[in-house]
Amino acid sequence: MIELKNVSKWYGSFQVLNDCSTKINKGEVVVVCGPSGSGKSTLIKTINALEPFQKGEIYVDGTAVHDPKTDLPKLRSRVGMVFQHFELFPHLSVTENLTIAQVKVLGRSADEAKKHGLKYLERVGLIAHKDKFPGQLSGGQQQRVAIARALSMDPIVMLFDEPTSALDPEMVGEVLDVMVSLAKEGMTMMVVTHEMGFARKVSNRVIFMDVGGKVLEDCSKDDFFNKPEERQPRTKDFLNKIL
Ligand code: ATP
Ligand code: MG
Repeated sequence: MIELKNVSKWYGSFQVLNDCSTKINKGEVVVVCGPSGSGKSTLIKTINALEPFQKGEIYVDGTAVHDPKTDLPKLRSRVGMVFQHFELFPHLSVTENLTIAQVKVLGRSADEAKKHGLKYLERVGLIAHKDKFPGQLSGGQQQRVAIARALSMDPIVMLFDEPTSALDPEMVGEVLDVMVSLAKEGMTMMVVTHEMGFARKVSNRVIFMDVGGKVLEDCSKDDFFNKPEERQPRTKDFLNKIL
């Protein structure tokens, strides 16, 4: 479904991604963790071409992201992305946030987009808030709307970049619950997070990145958490700090 082959990226002489390769199969949930500055956000954003890269190849459902001829807006419309800061349009209502891209990018009618969007709003438990504006919602609620908005586009994969790290602790659970249920329904997901409870519960694989943009580990969840003897010293250090 997604394949990265020897992806490298530099900012001037600073290498931010160093020969990164991995594969994500349909229905897999892959958690990406690692220290600050190791390139996790950069890596995940290369997949929908929000970050250009100088070397390597990326395929999303057969589409070559590195190919200059690829229709990037079309690719992005099929890759759902949820960031740390819920980037809802503040001047639009929840319903309008859910429908605007469906209409503008996918060409759906307003009615169809609304029906579809509200179905996902119901799914994340926020149908009662459909006419509110983002500023009238809590952080956790805004993040759930952001997830519903991404799902309304019928993505083939969902990318999450630290979706809970800007939330007050009591709101983390409600967002993780939505993500867990998505994972259980078979959505293909790549999730940058340090929520190791989430990783243990639903991930299939864990990628650990180290400073310098290197994929240091790419292994099954069970190996990651239960076979410390097979892990790199850097990974063990990191796990000791966050667990
Ligand atoms: P965090 O856990 O703090 O979110 P991260 O693993 O997501 O970190 P990235 O945001 O991908 O890390 O950044 C990787 C490295 O690239 C960092 O050292 C960062 O300073 C550097 N970097 C990011 N954007 C730029 C830029 N526009 N110009 C130069 N360096 C950059
Ligand atoms: Mg980051």
